[in-house]
Amino acid sequence: MYSIGIDLGGTSAQLVAVKKGKILFQTSIAVRDNSSLRYILGDLSSCIDKFSITRSEPLVSIGIAFPSIVDGPNNKILSRYVKYPDALDFDLESWAKIKFGAALFLENDARAALIGEYHFGLAKGYENSCLLTLGTGIGSAIMLDGKLLRGSNQLAGNLLGHTIIQYEGGKCNCNGIGCAESEGSGWWLNNKYHEINRGDLCGQGFKALLEPENVGLPVFREILAQLIKVYKTIIINAVHCYDPEIIILGGGIAEGMNTYIPVFQEAIEQHCWISPGAVKIIKSSLGIYAGAIGAACLYLNKDSKAPSNAI
Ligand SMILES: [Zn+2]
Repeated sequence: MYSIGIDLGGTSAQLVAVKKGKILFQTSIAVRDNSSLRYILGDLSSCIDKFSITRSEPLVSIGIAFPSIVDGPNNKILSRYVKYPDALDFDLESWAKIKFGAALFLENDARAALIGEYHFGLAKGYENSCLLTLGTGIGSAIMLDGKLLRGSNQLAGNLLGHTIIQYEGGKCNCNGIGCAESEGSGWWLNNKYHEINRGDLCGQGFKALLEPENVGLPVFREILAQLIKVYKTIIINAVHCYDPEIIILGGGIAEGMNTYIPVFQEAIEQHCWISPGAVKIIKSSLGIYAGAIGAACLYLNKDSKAPSNAI
């Protein structure tokens, strides 16, 4: 028995197959059209079919990590996202059952990534952790005392990117003002690149700020300084709100950010009301596959729709 996990992003989807603590297969698929879930589901189905032909054992569950508010325990997507706006109308449980005879599990993408790190990555052994996905947006997930934080509307721990860090700041896509995302995120960075007539750098994220030809220029230094300040603020807020032992940084924009981990660590030592060294910041060890790996592990935290010895 094995399990499939899918992390459904707006531009690419990651798919993994997992069995007994081992990753059997992993791949990344470009999203051709994210105006509807039907296109990517077709591509993912073909990919699962091709892989399952090579296995003599059954596929027991499919987990999907989705970039939206998700009620994991009840397998429901709760909010429409700008990508895949029809996801709420799809009966994904029937898709998994009819097409593959598998149980389906849904989860928010940041929570799934933290589950992935907990079972397969650097969060193993830590019962109190925070994961930040620094990508186009800023996602977050919290585990406290070994349990994912959820809250009454599935928002708890998920929206550090939409905590207000500048109350007279910029307008955010959540309708908030001065959210962490609207002050410094992947989409904020792309807006900045356009403002300085360097739209060609959009999509290159943080790394472009550190390129030798850019790093010395005041305009890039200013952008970089704001981004770092925003991430420091989120990290300090995360420590004061949730008291984690570790903070894991993931997401596309985190690539190239390794050199700033000591800076974030220093910010904790300087500004947090805790003992020195009490919180460790680390970079995701599973990279872009963390969400998909966590999605493949989802049923381990749920009811007994699938046997617990499959992974
Ligand atoms: Zn916001």
